[in-house]
Amino acid sequence: MTDLKKNQEIILEIEDFTKEGEGLGKYQGFPFFVKDTVIGDRIVAAVTGLKKNYGYARLVSILEPSPDRVEPLCPVARQCGGCRIQQLSYEKQKEFKWNLVAGCLKRIGGFENIEKKMEPILAMESPWHYRNKAQFPIGRDREGRPVAGFYAGRTHSIIPNTNCMIQAEVNAGILDSILAYMEKNRIEPYDEKGGKGLVRHVLTRVGFVTGQIMVCLIINGREKDLKNLPALVDELSAIEGMTSIMVNINREKTNRILGEECRTIWGKDYIEDYIGEIRYQIGPKSFFQVNPAQTGVLYAKALEYAGLTGKETVWDMYCGIGTISLFLARSAGKVYGVEIVKEAIDDARINAAINGCQNVEFFVGKAEEVVPAHHKETGISADVVVVDPPRKGCDPVLLETIADMGPDKIVYVSCDPATLARDARILCDKGYEVIKVAVVDQFAHSTHVEVVSLLSRVK
Ligand code: SAH
Repeated sequence: MTDLKKNQEIILEIEDFTKEGEGLGKYQGFPFFVKDTVIGDRIVAAVTGLKKNYGYARLVSILEPSPDRVEPLCPVARQCGGCRIQQLSYEKQKEFKWNLVAGCLKRIGGFENIEKKMEPILAMESPWHYRNKAQFPIGRDREGRPVAGFYAGRTHSIIPNTNCMIQAEVNAGILDSILAYMEKNRIEPYDEKGGKGLVRHVLTRVGFVTGQIMVCLIINGREKDLKNLPALVDELSAIEGMTSIMVNINREKTNRILGEECRTIWGKDYIEDYIGEIRYQIGPKSFFQVNPAQTGVLYAKALEYAGLTGKETVWDMYCGIGTISLFLARSAGKVYGVEIVKEAIDDARINAAINGCQNVEFFVGKAEEVVPAHHKETGISADVVVVDPPRKGCDPVLLETIADMGPDKIVYVSCDPATLARDARILCDKGYEVIKVAVVDQFAHSTHVEVVSLLSRVK
């Protein structure tokens, strides 16, 4: 307990950093979590919340900055709910992520000395403008003018910003055109509270290799409610690379961004882009990796770990739109992909056809159901299994089945080192060992981290 009160100002030395990217400092032994700080900062903070054993505080001023602190490039980095750790130098971000993975593997997985098996982090060349997909909510500023930006952390108030430092640079011009068009034609931004107004979001997707651009206006109404639309289309279609202009109808009171109905009003229904040498078609609703350059790095590492010679049977579990399956198919005998979302498998099959991959087969369903059934019925085993589950990790039934199938290699791609550590421990207790671990930074300035690890069957 502490007898501090809310809003009271205190001086803190930040001595630790949580996995959510908050600094931690102690006031007379009582710990406070403070957003926007880094280890080594000496700060004035105002108490914002008190629990029994810890509290929260807001950064008021910096008395002495940490040597690892940098000035965020984005002027609204603090308010915006997007970037969490822009104030930490990129060098230190890399160290933080690598240590986060090592810590989880040790603490949760019980892997002593795991550092020896961990490669140096595969980081971005430049940690800016790396995202190929943006969904900007549209609202109003205090003067009632339409604005675009991002939500502040934990709320739905929009922090106006058309020039996001991690998004493609072309967005700024697209948004400025749309906002000017809205103002000129008195087109109302959507108001979440009342469910009135027209334009809810602007979605953009950019093919970094092809240069193709898609813009999709998500509206609470009909296409004809967009008065004078041809004027906007003229302006947007003149942007170099513009390939697809679409309208999506979402008239529901929901937090879901996209509605069911999509209409192409200019150009194609999709854009194309590459990861490595594999070409993909991407529609407004398609899942596609948001940092394609680093995804290529991640998959190249997965391919290296898989060590394929051209003969192997490979299972790609949680395969999404088949990105990893197709990446590996050229070096494998046969690849089977499993994914729960039917639309993703539809895309996977299209992408296989576009790339002329004939040695891949996809199944829709839960990996923990499809794989055991298939294994039982056909007895088909696997030389290599790749898993790339969502944050909650692999289902225990699936892990059991994988161990029964007994592949020589398991390549585990993970977006959450805690569940990776848990699952790797289970696999190691069933006859595998961790050989190598690579940390890949796909999301600079966020605390997200991707890991690929190679497990091998103990002979
Ligand atoms: N490997 C893909 C996508 C990985 S994301 C890529 O690199 O692009 C994880 C995927 O697992 C998502 O597509 C999600 O829909 C799918 N998924 C979630 N639970 C699943 C389950 N129980 N069985 C199969 N797929 C599942």
